[in-house]
Amino acid sequence: MRLEPVAPGSRVHLPDAAAGPPPGVPPKADAVARVRKLGERIDELQDALYAEGRRALLVVLQGRDTSGKDGAVRRVFGPLDPLGIVITSFKVPTPLELAHDYLWRVHQAVPPKGTIGVFNRSHYEDVLVVRVHELVPEPVWRARYEQINQFEHILSENGVTILKFFLHISREEQRERLLARLEDPTKYWKFSAGDLGERERWDEYTAAYEEALERTSTAVAPWHVVPADRKYVRDLLVAQVVVDALERMAPQYPGPPDGLENFRATLR
Ligand code: ADP
Repeated sequence: MRLEPVAPGSRVHLPDAAAGPPPGVPPKADAVARVRKLGERIDELQDALYAEGRRALLVVLQGRDTSGKDGAVRRVFGPLDPLGIVITSFKVPTPLELAHDYLWRVHQAVPPKGTIGVFNRSHYEDVLVVRVHELVPEPVWRARYEQINQFEHILSENGVTILKFFLHISREEQRERLLARLEDPTKYWKFSAGDLGERERWDEYTAAYEEALERTSTAVAPWHVVPADRKYVRDLLVAQVVVDALERMAPQYPGPPDGLENFRATLR
């Protein structure tokens, strides 16, 4: 089974019911085995992408607290050669970052040619948390949808393939995951009191996500809504979209060096 991208211009609804496993998902053990296979395939394709050195893949991960962004990075991209992958987590902007336009720090983190880049949070925070907390006036964040589309268009015209994932969890699943952080001493560090405040703004975030996905799912940078209440479903769906995209990119190993036979003869 495969996740369809959000069609450009279509309406997006993110009810809690859509966070559960969709029909047709294989049993957990099969899904986990499949994720492992897909990981191996991503590794092969990444090797060719690195050797080719002309294009990059950018994977954007967004989702509420506990939606599994870190877990998806570990499970889907964990098997890759660290040389060919760049993972960037976007936190509250520093004073230096705030002194620039909001895309400044993002553009610097775009993966170089030959690599896969993963954004753990992204420029979308600038139309999500910024909107919900009214960190800038509405006309300022509202103008960003179009700015983001233009930015992503520029990247795509310069050899960056973009895939965006919204990891969709339900309110109940988030409650359980937050509670788990308070019941396991090895997870205390993951808990932040601020997460409860964000959780109280659940519906505001839903509205912000729905509009962001509606306005910024484009042919060159499509959004995918990942039903993420089950971790193995999340990993399987994300890994499959990544493999499909890399296969469409079809990275090619460079041909032999000029004078191949001479070099071989010398070394033999
Ligand atoms: P995690 O991504 O694991 O939750 P943190 O707990 O450090 O990591 O959370 C990062 C925080 O930074 C989030 O609350 C997020 O909303 C915030 N953040 C990221 N980008 C921005 C931004 N542009 N403006 C304001 N807050 C942001």
